[in-house]
Amino acid sequence: MAEPYTPPKPKKTLKRKRSQPERDGIDMDEPFPPPAALRRKIPNFQGHGPQNCGDHHHRIMSSIAETRYKAHFPFSSMTWTCVGCLGDYCPINLHDLPCGHFFCLNCLNHRIKVLPSRLGIYTKQLNDTMAEMVALEDQPRRKRMPATQRREVEQTYSRLKFKLLHYAGLECCGMDTKLNRFVGCLSPGASRTYWLCSHWLFDRPHERRSCAWPDCEQYIPVLCRWELRPSLGGGDGQRYYCVQCRANSRDSSQRVLVSPQTKFPWLPEGQDLLLPSR
Ligand SMILES: [Zn+2]
Ligand SMILES: [Zn+2]
Ligand SMILES: [Zn+2]
Ligand SMILES: [Zn+2]
Repeated sequence: MAEPYTPPKPKKTLKRKRSQPERDGIDMDEPFPPPAALRRKIPNFQGHGPQNCGDHHHRIMSSIAETRYKAHFPFSSMTWTCVGCLGDYCPINLHDLPCGHFFCLNCLNHRIKVLPSRLGIYTKQLNDTMAEMVALEDQPRRKRMPATQRREVEQTYSRLKFKLLHYAGLECCGMDTKLNRFVGCLSPGASRTYWLCSHWLFDRPHERRSCAWPDCEQYIPVLCRWELRPSLGGGDGQRYYCVQCRANSRDSSQRVLVSPQTKFPWLPEGQDLLLPSR
């Protein structure tokens, strides 16, 4: 869940030969801040961390979970088991999955840590699945289909969506783990990784972009695109805001990747590249 957003202190500046004077109170070297509507959609990663973990109260979210919960009653012991490391923990320190399994904080962090490389290992399968989903999304006259046909399409769509989660390692017992409920317990870095990876997973492959700042190259979700208002002195089009380095990039129109990226976000050869920008 998105928490109140504290505006970041911009740290990047464009290299300039001569320093440019301040204009109308705007520092000409500072990156343009993304609009408030976009900032509200970005979680306050800095507020996340293990200090928020604990006192978790669990909700029964499926019949299989109900069966598993009942096995714990009456409490034979005051500890429950983590499905990752099989360690015993006090229930309020565990994170419940919709299937009735639990993760300790270490195992939760581990799932997130390996997420970017999993997306790399299964990029082809993920992209093929996404292509099928896109074909369904773009199907003309979907709204005017007979109810039975529409239901079939919806079922196929959720089956494909589940396939994505499966390849990403974000399912347990055939259910979405819904780990977004626990991002507040993760370190700021891990929580940002989770947020970026879950956007990457559902963004259309040809729309994926990475930050143009060479010391960063982090993933920029489709959600982080914004239009620069001419009143800010720009007006030359779209900006891409990077949640890692808090700088902007913009379209380059000609530059494409000459070889596939060897780290997350794993952009393929030929993908459009961005340029560093204010
Ligand atoms: Zn927690
Ligand atoms: Zn564990
Ligand atoms: Zn499970
Ligand atoms: Zn960046």
